[in-house]
Amino acid sequence: MTERVVKLQSSHVYKSFGDTTVLHDVSARVHANEVVALIGPSGAGKSTFLRCINNLQLIDSGCIEIDGELIGYRRAGEVLHPLPDADAARQRARIGMVFQNFNLFRHMTALANVAYAPIEVLGRSKADARAAARDLLAKVGLEGKEGHYPAQLSGGQQQRVAIARALAMDPTMILLDEPTSALDPELRQEVAAVIRSMAEHDRTMLMATHDIPLVRDIADWVIFMVEGRIVEEGPAGQVLNDPEHERTRQFLSKMS
Ligand code: ADP
Ligand code: MG
Repeated sequence: MTERVVKLQSSHVYKSFGDTTVLHDVSARVHANEVVALIGPSGAGKSTFLRCINNLQLIDSGCIEIDGELIGYRRAGEVLHPLPDADAARQRARIGMVFQNFNLFRHMTALANVAYAPIEVLGRSKADARAAARDLLAKVGLEGKEGHYPAQLSGGQQQRVAIARALAMDPTMILLDEPTSALDPELRQEVAAVIRSMAEHDRTMLMATHDIPLVRDIADWVIFMVEGRIVEEGPAGQVLNDPEHERTRQFLSKMS
């Protein structure tokens, strides 16, 4: 058995919005080259957790580390200080994010969407970034669609562009927030296939999703969250087929 290397460590993370505690003592690990599914009812805090990992939001206490590096903060003795914007942006650039609603740049072609951040953020040459973008679009099955604008693509195709765009930054890990939930069943299949092929290429992924068939298909590990707390986690087969907690059982029976 290969050694499991910790990619992401979340320790006692709390996050509130006003009086509402959205993440309550969330401690979890994601191991390198594994696919972890974050499941749980609406409002559980899944998206917030992903946004905190990607440094789009700051946590209130606890800490999140990726590859041993503190996210969002720097340590000065015992005290944590929020990172300056430029450092936060640098961290964010290393973590791929795929959203439910694709969030593509509407006024750019598929190719330009994929090549944009490598040029603007990583300083790649336009020619190199465009060549790499072409390859990535082919990988997600979009050969010939390079010149299309988002409005000219189906939802499934747009989501595949969004996945290619995340991959273009050669991220250390990829976060996906309900990547299939805005899609009709047929389109969901094509996006699921692309996510599955990513999983086969030793990508570390943390995916919030209601798509239990997708979880069954590709997840190594499942974390079940309710109201900001982790209720249970474990190997995907175990959590999906033989959950320990009644709350997990209820959730899963409602989902299938
Ligand atoms: P999930 O993705 O599991 O559905 P979310 O992380 O989106 O859950 O939301 C968890 C809770 O946090 C919800 O009650 C939501 O209303 C609240 N919430 C999320 N973002 C904000 C925000 N920016 N301001 C205030 N409340 C928020
Ligand atoms: Mg959500």
